[in-house]
Amino acid sequence: MAEDMTIQEWQEAAKHVVAMRDDMAAGIRAKREDAGKAIDEALLAARAKRPAWDEYYLTLAKDVSDRASCPAGHVGAVIVSAENVIIMTGYNGSPTGITHCTELGCSWVSRTGSDGSERSYARHVHAEANAIARAARVGARLNASTLYVTQEPCPDCLKLCLQAGIKIIVAGTVKDRKWWHEAVMICNNASVVLRERQ
Ligand SMILES: [Zn+2]
Ligand SMILES: [Zn+2]
Repeated sequence: MAEDMTIQEWQEAAKHVVAMRDDMAAGIRAKREDAGKAIDEALLAARAKRPAWDEYYLTLAKDVSDRASCPAGHVGAVIVSAENVIIMTGYNGSPTGITHCTELGCSWVSRTGSDGSERSYARHVHAEANAIARAARVGARLNASTLYVTQEPCPDCLKLCLQAGIKIIVAGTVKDRKWWHEAVMICNNASVVLRERQ
């Protein structure tokens, strides 16, 4: 019975309670430290996993290319504003309303040139040209924008990019090194950056 406890016993009991409280406090502190460490590790891992802009937009361009409707190859493009806002995407395929290359083949029309030679034209629009034309369709301004494309632009698309006011062109891969060097010089001349992914 508590009434029968001596002062010494009361003091022992009180010490025991204080020790228990200290143990609990230490336990809570350790748990908080563990949780803090786990959060720090998760933040570090998330930071390490977070893709840089090149990787982010080129991964997106690759996903866009999956919708290509042309057997000649799958290319995807993403146009982004200077404020990092996605303006438009494009992949290679025939113009709206024209039967896909996958059904009728890439060959569309042929014409006789002024030198008498026959030249055939493909039905597909390239990814970059498609993105630029689709931006025109909805009145989206491309001046000072950046174009991410899964492979380097061809000469025709490069001209369109320059004329649309695109200021940076980032290629995921370069297939034709000789043309690439020439394209870089053309872009330098136009004060446009043409570079590979970083
Ligand atoms: Zn085609
Ligand atoms: Zn092209």
